[in-house]
Amino acid sequence: MAREKIVEQYDVVIIGGGPAGLSAAIYAGRARLNTLLIEKALIGGLATYTNEISNYPGFPNDPKGEEITNLMKEQAKNLGVKFKLTAVSSVDLKGEEKIVETFRNKYVAKTVIIATGGRPRTTGAEAEENYLFDKGISFCATCDAAANTDKHVVVIGSGDAAIEEGMFLTKFASKVTVSVMHDEGIMDCNEIAKQAALANPKMDFVWNTVAKRFEGDGHLDTVVLKNVKTDEEIPIKCDNCFEFIGYLPNSELFEGQIEMTSRKYIPVNEKKETNLDGVFAIGDVTDKWLKQVATAVGDGAIAGTAVERYIAEKEIFDTRIMQKEKPGLIYVYNAIDAEGRDFLAHIESIETQFDTKIVVNRIDTYKSNGLAMKLGLDKVPAVVLTKEGTIMHKLYELNEEEILKYL
Ligand SMILES: Cc1cc2nc3c(=O)[nH]c(=O)nc-3n(C[C@H](O)[C@H](O)[C@H](O)COP(=O)(O)OP(=O)(O)OC[C@H]3O[C@@H](n4cnc5c(N)ncnc54)[C@H](O)[C@@H]3O)c2cc1C
Repeated sequence: MAREKIVEQYDVVIIGGGPAGLSAAIYAGRARLNTLLIEKALIGGLATYTNEISNYPGFPNDPKGEEITNLMKEQAKNLGVKFKLTAVSSVDLKGEEKIVETFRNKYVAKTVIIATGGRPRTTGAEAEENYLFDKGISFCATCDAAANTDKHVVVIGSGDAAIEEGMFLTKFASKVTVSVMHDEGIMDCNEIAKQAALANPKMDFVWNTVAKRFEGDGHLDTVVLKNVKTDEEIPIKCDNCFEFIGYLPNSELFEGQIEMTSRKYIPVNEKKETNLDGVFAIGDVTDKWLKQVATAVGDGAIAGTAVERYIAEKEIFDTRIMQKEKPGLIYVYNAIDAEGRDFLAHIESIETQFDTKIVVNRIDTYKSNGLAMKLGLDKVPAVVLTKEGTIMHKLYELNEEEILKYL
């Protein structure tokens, strides 16, 4: 018989414990939200795969990625964030209550922050699936460089990660052969990395090539490259191959529920809100230009703050604005707009006439646009009339007598 899942309630559930998720956890924890972070593999995410992070502000001594993320984890824990090391297997994010499930638990949350990051892309070459990870194809120089001491390795790709990790590999391997799909001298990495790589005596380059086939008896021993101009096959005998050809977003879990780009990244607005109310997305899983630890951390700060604001506004909206006890009048205006400000006197006049028979709320969109958005207004100023917590009328032509007719 299937075991019943343990149900737990949270203000915010963060899916993914990379730099983005950890930063969001710190901000949510600091805002005293009841926060859970779920991570299926390593706390620290992709940042733990890199040997040195030399571009994260405030850390001038090229720390390992995990040194930075371990500090983030400690900070989040100190702020009361709970951690679970398990995979999220399903989500239901459309309703007011967000459901996040793991093998044993069901988490019910007011908000969810998706921080599932990305994963390395593979080449799709023949027989690649037979040699992944411990059978000869790696995606992590930090993890596997030492095991390749005095060996010959092939690196596929010429972006920043490929060339920087390739150079790191030269500290261990006897030779690093790099397959580059472009013409001689053209690489996708930054100019400094390119010049350093070209000058590195342990590195050589096979230009105009892509991976065609992987071969070996149980373990990879040959990468067969193909010249994209001549179709010539070039077998390279090697001990291991490292693929650094980009990433794919870890967004499969959310397909069919959340809006995505054609490449399956999640688009967000400046508050990191997705198209679903109460669901935020941050870091490498989102459709963004620069995927780095620093930008992931910035995203987390925004989302961690935005969830706090979202929960507070929702509380006010549900209990005060959409109260059910009396007929309601909600006046939505922008305080920096003269027309909206001037009409406040008429709202006060209506409030006086009806005394305690109606509940009047004023929302200044300059201070709190979120509340106004929830009312689904086309423009402001506007008056919204409610009965038993339901919107009855939205009035955009503001005239005291006209409003009185509806009350
Ligand atoms: C080789 C390499 C070198 C790099 N070098 C640098 C560098 O020098 N400087 C720099 O700034 N950036 C660097 N980066 C990029 C940087 O690591 C990423 O941009 C950053 O880690 C993105 O953070 P993130 O939190 O969005 O995602 P990730 O770090 O990918 O974290 C996402 C986390 O979500 C978890 N997850 C996914 N699905 C689930 C699920 N269903 N349930 C639970 N958990 C889940 C994953 O296990 C993962 O831990 C490098 C990346 C690589 C691969």
